[in-house]
Amino acid sequence: MTTTLIDGIGLLYTGDPAREEIRDAALVLADGLVAWLGPAGRAPAADRRIAAGGRCVIPGFVDSHAHLVFAGDRTAEFEARMAGQAYTGGGIRTTVAATRRAGDAELATRAAALVAEMLAQGTTTVEIKSGYGLSVEDERRSLEIATGLTDETTYLGAHLVPEGVTADDYVRLVTGEMLAACAPYAKWVDVFCERGAFDGDQTREILRAGIKAGLQARVHANQLTEGPGVRIACELGAASADHCTHLSAADVDALASSGTVATLLPGAEFSTRSPYPDARRLIDAGVTVALATDCNPGSSFTSSMSFCVALAVREMRMTPLEAIRAATYGGARALRRADVGWLGPGTRADLVVLDAPSYTHLAYRPGVPLVHQVVQGGLLLE
Ligand SMILES: [Zn+2]
Repeated sequence: MTTTLIDGIGLLYTGDPAREEIRDAALVLADGLVAWLGPAGRAPAADRRIAAGGRCVIPGFVDSHAHLVFAGDRTAEFEARMAGQAYTGGGIRTTVAATRRAGDAELATRAAALVAEMLAQGTTTVEIKSGYGLSVEDERRSLEIATGLTDETTYLGAHLVPEGVTADDYVRLVTGEMLAACAPYAKWVDVFCERGAFDGDQTREILRAGIKAGLQARVHANQLTEGPGVRIACELGAASADHCTHLSAADVDALASSGTVATLLPGAEFSTRSPYPDARRLIDAGVTVALATDCNPGSSFTSSMSFCVALAVREMRMTPLEAIRAATYGGARALRRADVGWLGPGTRADLVVLDAPSYTHLAYRPGVPLVHQVVQGGLLLE
């Protein structure tokens, strides 16, 4: 067993609520895990050494919401939106048509390229949803491709009702034959609960069917309008309610008194020029908040967690500490993972050396590539 010492860490953000930050720190990695961390002066000897040169080290980002299996291009839709056209979610159908036409190899290659793009930017754990197939075979193969890239795979057959099918027939398919074909490849079940997509009753029915098939629930909730999504997520014990842009007082109370994480996706508001979620209201109410990219070809085509941290600080009034916590520890909570999103003895050795003295620089220097080195499972990526 080779051990690796990372020393010369100016600031270590551990993500461990018990001791979140350590100055002049060191870490020892062994067998792909963190074996020790603490003040540099007390570090044990190791076989190899990485000198951090006074830089800041953070846990690898946990991007708990991404749609990476798709084909096609929606640049024109973005241009039209920036010229004043409103976002409705209907553009999903454009991607569905292109995804159905694409071969398995093309879909797999494109998804793998996005995962590599994320990893180079410090994202060491990513969730990947289906949802651009909307047929039994296209959803199944989307999830099969996703399982080759991550353990965090989500069945989102209920992204939108495809053209030429009634909503009732489609819900029957999503809770029946499609679920049976997809469940072996999925950890999670998700529903786009929104006016024009799936209503409260349909959302409940689809999530319950998924849970019965052994999946865990997460919900696209309250993105475009105030609806029942957040309350259903809390009621059914979902790990996360995602978006949370339009919330009533009852929604905030439901989140605060449940274990459901509020995952905020400010890339979507940025790219659709919409009002941001009220992160302060959620944090002040005691809700656990996560940040994720929502990386998808329509409403948020960014793979950058650093960008989301900058948006969270500038646009949603989160402190830099709250933002980095949400992008690491919060994301892990949203995926019910205890082994990633923070650094302590026994966690996965997933970490990022930032070319900066503090994680605050992610917001203070927006758009600047500050990822110096990425370690995933103890391996330094060159
Ligand atoms: Zn989404």
